Amino acid sequence: MTRTGEKSYFEAGTLVAVLTAEPINRFLDYKAPEGGVFVGSFVQVPLGPRKVLGVVWGAGVGGFDLSKARPVSQVLDVAPMREEMMVFLQKVADYTLTPMSAMLRLATRAPGLGDPISMRKVYALGDVEPDRITDARTRVLNVLRENKASRLTKKELADLAGVTASVVDGLVKLKAVAEVETPRDTAYPKLDPMMAGLELSESQKTGGDALRASIAEQTYSTTLLKGVTGSGKTEVYMEAVAECLAQGRQALVLLPEIALTVEFLDRVEKRFGARPAEWHSGVTMTERRRCWRMIGDGKAQLVVGARSALFLPYQNLGLIIVDEEHDTSYKQEEGVFYSARDMAVMRASIVGASVVLASATPSLETWANADAGKYKRVDLEGRFGTAELPDMEPIDLRMEEMETQSWISPALHGEVQSRLDKGEQSLLFLNRRGYAPVTVCRACGHQVGCDDCDARMVEHKYHGQLICHQCGETKPVPTKCPNCDVEGRMAAVGPGVERLAEEAEVRFPDAKIEVLSSDMALSARALKERIHSIAAGEADIIIGTQMVAKGHNFPLLTCVGVIDADLGLQGGDLRAAERTFQLIRQVAGRAGRAEKRGVAFIQTHQPDHPVIQAIMKGEEEEFWRAEAAQRREAGVPPYGRLAGIVISGPDLKAVYDVATALSRNIEGLRQIGADVFGPAPAPIARVRGNHRVRLLVKAAKTTHIQPTLERWRNSIKAPNNVRISIDIDPQSFY
Ligand code: ADP
Ligand code: ZN
Repeated sequence: MTRTGEKSYFEAGTLVAVLTAEPINRFLDYKAPEGGVFVGSFVQVPLGPRKVLGVVWGAGVGGFDLSKARPVSQVLDVAPMREEMMVFLQKVADYTLTPMSAMLRLATRAPGLGDPISMRKVYALGDVEPDRITDARTRVLNVLRENKASRLTKKELADLAGVTASVVDGLVKLKAVAEVETPRDTAYPKLDPMMAGLELSESQKTGGDALRASIAEQTYSTTLLKGVTGSGKTEVYMEAVAECLAQGRQALVLLPEIALTVEFLDRVEKRFGARPAEWHSGVTMTERRRCWRMIGDGKAQLVVGARSALFLPYQNLGLIIVDEEHDTSYKQEEGVFYSARDMAVMRASIVGASVVLASATPSLETWANADAGKYKRVDLEGRFGTAELPDMEPIDLRMEEMETQSWISPALHGEVQSRLDKGEQSLLFLNRRGYAPVTVCRACGHQVGCDDCDARMVEHKYHGQLICHQCGETKPVPTKCPNCDVEGRMAAVGPGVERLAEEAEVRFPDAKIEVLSSDMALSARALKERIHSIAAGEADIIIGTQMVAKGHNFPLLTCVGVIDADLGLQGGDLRAAERTFQLIRQVAGRAGRAEKRGVAFIQTHQPDHPVIQAIMKGEEEEFWRAEAAQRREAGVPPYGRLAGIVISGPDLKAVYDVATALSRNIEGLRQIGADVFGPAPAPIARVRGNHRVRLLVKAAKTTHIQPTLERWRNSIKAPNNVRISIDIDPQSFY
């Protein structure tokens, strides 16, 4: 659909093609307004009775009565979309089989882009202490103390503090809060790339120099930066950021989790003297708008954000860092199905920027690209300073005398106890949220399921409810069986972290125990504070889900217990081995980060399983090579191509009819050598009342399958209540 590269300016009255963010999969023609427009100009155009946001994409097609064409209503006062960005959006659309309108929505996720430049009032701490302090007032002042760098409006301030606007007004009157008139969007403070960083170790210096050299070339390159947790990767890629900023280009750092951004912002401030722009779901709407505009004006040098920060309108992008590049949160699995890691590489290759993929446990995709010489590779040796990697020790659960309703083996109990005696920290890791995954009736065997999904409800004591992890539906914890009506026989089966904490409290009655799980729904800042106080020794035993595996430092931690190493190996997912390997290595890496050496104890029923063996031996390259050989043999990613197709809808028969029709119409796919598997009910066969059926397309790595897939999807006229979604390079198969 691209029509760029033809003409860049259109005089008033000529026809232009406009891409809108409305779900219409074609360009609309409008007349250029007074003063003309450029390709890439952001505009407002009339659509029916409304005015909608759009981008001038090229010359209009016409073919209709020109006097009927409506003019563009307004050209917006923001930097026009650069051609490079138009190419990027088009390429992502082609790769992921996404309509361009959805791509534009992704690229304009900031409110009020069409508003004129204006002033607004923001709030800061005043210089008078109020003489009468209330709870509500304290909350307002605390929010201002915590958010010194952001510029909060009255509504944002009141919302964050959980008070009414009149509380803020009261404080303004008392001069305890200052009201300041500022332009809505201001440039971000200057970062100084020449400031000295920490003194680097030999290995860090070699790595940093290699990255600087790549960036100095100002052409596309991707480098895998590999080093165990605590090896100082962040310090090394800051060198890359410094080089990029010194060239006057913009840099982007992607992080897998909001909780990590808070700590990262502090590190940037120490390294470059000011805080960078921030982009993720926890950022206020006004701040988002500022971020979007300033990036487009080149007035934000560094952006730290979540995956969607990849679609911001950089003017001069020189570097993208993808930290913890193996993390599954980089894959978006709704709306636009894209991998931020892969699309980062695509964007960089279009603009001649560098990419750094950092991880202790890279994805097999990245490992294979480095192995094949497509990516450069920088390895950091060992850990920074004296810290050493933990020893790994299996605990064979077949040999342990496990008590009923108990998940901590006698051996692990002993190890944790000895750490408690020495005043050291332990971490018990179980990748399951909630209290118990199953609630069963001991009288009839009924398991409580979700009404709308083919999934069991998970008991959460913290919330006092059963929760469906698919759709979020809740139910009270039943005392009477919903199936046989027998009273008092409902029982929780299996552990989640909350239940593990309960067991730990019984076993270690004097220990301070803290649970870290994404259920706690803390703000990024509150979570960071919690993690900080735990890291400083507030807890003796930390109990956590995979959230604790991601990048947090616990220097006092010397013992990690993996409660169920076999959990991830079930299910037959193509990446089960890889994920288990990554997750357990990451968790184990939390131990012994300071002077004290750590040990990771791995509870398993299958100590001889090759994956468990590889984890124990820590011979990573050997593991990757073996895993690579198996995948190559099977012709699956990264050595083959997959596309996952989910057909879903409320009517099971209609869903199956579409799936069957698709599966019978695969001539085109056969011709390009692709195989089609299915239809089969999805592992979770119903979500939110929609039945789900899957097909899987498998092809050789070199096959460009998208155009054929698109024709295939369009060859079937699906009824309105059936959805066909295609996921290229699927990560999950639920
Ligand atoms: P990684 O990203 O590989 O897990 P980090 O960069 O977070 O490692 O480094 C781990 C710890 O070591 C951090 O607390 C960091 O501040 C510290 N560190 C890393 N490099 C240095 C250095 N050159 N000098 C001093 N401290 C360092
Ligand atoms: Zn549900």
